Amino acid sequence: MNEKAKFIFCTGGVMSGIGKGVATASIGKILQFRGFNISVVKIDPYLNVDPGTLNPLEHGECFITEDVWDFRPVPDSDERVYRISEIDQDFGTYERFLGITIHPSNNITSGQIYLSTILRERKGRFLGRTVQLIPHVTDMIKSRLSEIAQKEDLDVLLVECGGTVGDLESSIFLESFRQLRLELPKNKTAFVHVTLVPYSKAVGQQKSKPTQHSVKMLQSAGLQPDIIIGRSEKPLEEDIRNKISLFSNVPKEAVISNPDLENIYELPLLFEEQNLGDLLCEILDLKAKLVSYSEITNFSEWKKTVKLFNEAVKPVKIGMPGKYFNITDSYISINDALEHAAVHQGYKTDLKMINIDETTNISEELKDCDGILLTPGFGERAVEGMISAAEYAMENKIPFLGICFGAQLFWIAFCRKYLGLEAANSTEINKDTPYPVVDLLESQKHVTEKGGTMRLGGLDVYLRENTKLFEAYGEKIIRERFRHRYHINSNYINEEAREKGMIVSSTDETGKIINSIELNRPDHWMVGTQFHPEFKSAPFKPSPVYSAFIKEAIKYKNNK
Ligand code: GLN
Repeated sequence: MNEKAKFIFCTGGVMSGIGKGVATASIGKILQFRGFNISVVKIDPYLNVDPGTLNPLEHGECFITEDVWDFRPVPDSDERVYRISEIDQDFGTYERFLGITIHPSNNITSGQIYLSTILRERKGRFLGRTVQLIPHVTDMIKSRLSEIAQKEDLDVLLVECGGTVGDLESSIFLESFRQLRLELPKNKTAFVHVTLVPYSKAVGQQKSKPTQHSVKMLQSAGLQPDIIIGRSEKPLEEDIRNKISLFSNVPKEAVISNPDLENIYELPLLFEEQNLGDLLCEILDLKAKLVSYSEITNFSEWKKTVKLFNEAVKPVKIGMPGKYFNITDSYISINDALEHAAVHQGYKTDLKMINIDETTNISEELKDCDGILLTPGFGERAVEGMISAAEYAMENKIPFLGICFGAQLFWIAFCRKYLGLEAANSTEINKDTPYPVVDLLESQKHVTEKGGTMRLGGLDVYLRENTKLFEAYGEKIIRERFRHRYHINSNYINEEAREKGMIVSSTDETGKIINSIELNRPDHWMVGTQFHPEFKSAPFKPSPVYSAFIKEAIKYKNNK
């Protein structure tokens, strides 16, 4: 075990989806203000090896990392390797808050842990022994954590455990945390429990009972929280803090208030006001380091960013036609990237999510929008409506940014409208289309397995000069993140297409794979990227192409 690294375990109480990820990221931030080298692990107790195969309607967005991890369930064996770059959306929150690039192996799933355990058994790695949850599975979990802490030479590793205390499937992880606390010196671990404190309208009071129950549940797993973060609509009232403290066996100053915030980036400041940073340092026996200036670790820089977000009020309305809108998180990195870009120009995004079905009147929905962002996605549903949205943008010269699937559908709309290829389609949607203007990548043609098999992760993008994309980035080679199987078929980008105004603005290093397209028109900003620039946007550093898009949308709005 790394001599240096300390662990902060963040568990969740009462229910999931209360913002445990934002709380964990904010704790990371206040440690960065003190100069510590930190990283975050997220544990997802489901049995999928990674979330890449999960439905966004159920699970929200899948975050894509810069690196692709070759996960070897049985090291030094002929067992197959799994490529992982698709990880939990909480990593988007961590990277945006912390300004660090997190490795995909920091997302530990039960799927990975059990796969490793069972396949190792078959390879004879436990010969003679009965393989059991304790100690074999717990050892596997602990060694994954210590490997990460060591590899990155961390001061502190934050470990967020997905789900809620009391869930059967996460109990083995809690057990591993308990063992770590026992094995390590006292000042090496801290436990933070993020729990819901509901407000009862009928009684006109905040209620501590659900928190009391969930702390009891944690205690019965052998874990005593050091800090309780109460998620509530309004700041925690004095008597509620007293009560939580008394019943949970946590000092009152360690009961931290985390109310709903308009601007989530304010949370680290709120934590600072309540002395959470100093408290953690005390528990972990850490002394703040001298911080050399950087926009990531500097407290006043962060304050400036927060102010920017609070002061931007003028609205810019972006229409987002798509199909995964039943939960708010399906496109969270895109929503955030749009907001970052707008705020830095003094505007606040007003996002109009257009959930396309057979009854949607696209032009009606889009007519009050200042810009259109065509969303990523998979499969046939809602595709014709999304193509109409791109056509509407072309006809009405509305600023348009198509991301991945959105770029492919923009290209299909163009082929149908300007090249006379009425039945043009992607072979993902219609295998027998006479005009496969979007087709399977050559490298994908023999892929049969799902999960980690797409063109994934951070790749170099070669920009062409005199394009809107180049104007946005101002660089010839950039690096952005990808997640796709299909691509824009370069055979159709011919002389006629160029004459009608369609150009390729970037490719891969071979020049063969098209990484982005755009309209070559001075009076209309319409860009489609095969990559996902939203994954690299941060509140203090908006994505260049999102910024250019928002700039055009603002211009469009003000010229209306
Ligand atoms: N379904 C398309 C593909 O596989 C687009 C994927 C995406 O939007 N991420 O290429």
